[in-house]
Amino acid sequence: MHRLYENDDIAVFWNSDKCFHAKRCVHGSPKTFDPKRKPWIDVRRAETKEIWQAISECPSGALSCIYRHNIDVVMDDENCRSIALDGEKIIGECDYQVTEQGWNIYHTGVGPEYGGKGIARRLVYKVIEQAERSCAEIGASCSYARKVLDE
Ligand code: SF4
Repeated sequence: MHRLYENDDIAVFWNSDKCFHAKRCVHGSPKTFDPKRKPWIDVRRAETKEIWQAISECPSGALSCIYRHNIDVVMDDENCRSIALDGEKIIGECDYQVTEQGWNIYHTGVGPEYGGKGIARRLVYKVIEQAERSCAEIGASCSYARKVLDE
């Protein structure tokens, strides 16, 4: 299971397949990581510095985080894609097709001037998360998205 959590500063990625529940994150930021709560991660409950430090101590790589750079990433279900927005301007997208076999991500792209900010990974995670929430199989013919799925 893949999940993306965001606050005003950071985007947090969680891959449950890698998590072996060592709970270092829980000890590092108990308000953020609470196994008794649903969802168990809430990145608006503690200071970004504390969350970042807790994530850096995750031994499995299940958790990772990056700065948001004031770029929003949202679903655009009508057009089968997630999009990245700099204000009103679309600066990146991750496109998928819905087939009988499930969802297939076939393209991920971010404007060259926005490279190196982790936006493409956020876009892909957003689509994976949405597919999983819809109980759809998710695959990728886009090589970048394939890499994120295999991480
Ligand atoms: S520290 Fe990492 S491996 Fe441990 S519970 Fe948290 S996410 Fe899972």
